[in-house]
Amino acid sequence: MLTGMKLNNQIKRRKTRPVFVGNVQIGGDAPIVVQSMTDTKTHDIETTLNQINKLAQAGCEIIRVAAPTEKDAQALKEIVKNSPIPVIADIHFSPRIAFLALESGIHGIRLNPGNINDEGKIKEILQECKRKNIAVRLGVNSGSLEEKLLEKYGFPSGEALAESALNWSEFFEKVGFTNFKVSIKGSDVLQNIQANKIFAEKTDIPLHIGITEAGPAGRGSVKSAVGLGILLYMGIGDTIRVSLTADPVEEVEVAYQILQSLGLRRKGVEIISCPTCGRIEVNLPEIVSKVEEKLKNVDKPLKVAIMGCVVNAIGEAKEADIGLACGNKSAILFKNGQPLKRVSEEEMVDELLKEIEGM
Ligand code: SF4
Repeated sequence: MLTGMKLNNQIKRRKTRPVFVGNVQIGGDAPIVVQSMTDTKTHDIETTLNQINKLAQAGCEIIRVAAPTEKDAQALKEIVKNSPIPVIADIHFSPRIAFLALESGIHGIRLNPGNINDEGKIKEILQECKRKNIAVRLGVNSGSLEEKLLEKYGFPSGEALAESALNWSEFFEKVGFTNFKVSIKGSDVLQNIQANKIFAEKTDIPLHIGITEAGPAGRGSVKSAVGLGILLYMGIGDTIRVSLTADPVEEVEVAYQILQSLGLRRKGVEIISCPTCGRIEVNLPEIVSKVEEKLKNVDKPLKVAIMGCVVNAIGEAKEADIGLACGNKSAILFKNGQPLKRVSEEEMVDELLKEIEGM
């Protein structure tokens, strides 16, 4: 029973210090930033830039590109010069590639100190980042956890991951570097939540959150929505990436849907539609998918309700900016909570779109 429990419909975000990746602020009072990662070969500059442009159009605010080879690192200069959004180079294992990337004008680098495993080199990289005002994402992954923590905890538990992230953060700060955010990626949702929660309670360092290797679009979106949703509800997370085995544009769309469903960002059209039941007298799935397709490039934040019958339509009409309350082969078109006119099933999509165009 929830008696006496006060539900606040606004999430109180954790207070974090601001970090800048190029001109994009992460943490502090900035909205939660949406990131993605290209899946092209970075040294194929043209294809990579095409994908970055598509992602930027979809609302991606920071892009990460892999730099596994020197050839990829050498391509960064051209990519950074032509990218519409700040670029982060994803570096693993090789300090040499990290230094090459830092020469390219890159806005940020992602490092997993655990897989570089050389404090001297990490210090040199951080000094160079400081000199060039380049932000760092300090990554801790269950796959590259230090031996001593594995021995202490027996396996890469949430506590072990949080401890590793706290130790490395302390190291960064001890060598005078503060322009960084942290990402902690466990192999499952609960481990992720636990690790991020422990870390968040102890520092004001911004957190990049994501459920790593979440899977194909359908399953991966559910897993990400659950994991990220819980963390975001606790106020944790300054930037997010949804990782899907799919076109990265889908990652950006799902990220906004997660943020939008918690009232943390508003972007584009939100469609509210009923699941349909035995009362339905129009082809609602077809109507909804036509409307969704036509409105997918509309950036204006709009709530559109498309309801199968009047049972819930009156309540939804009050909440939505515009919508359709369907009935027998027809619908009432309503706007700002008021009925405008009756439209037939054949004309309802066009009439709705015409009205939205004028808004
Ligand atoms: S709005 Fe009407 S048609 Fe849609 S699920 Fe509810 S009762 Fe059924």
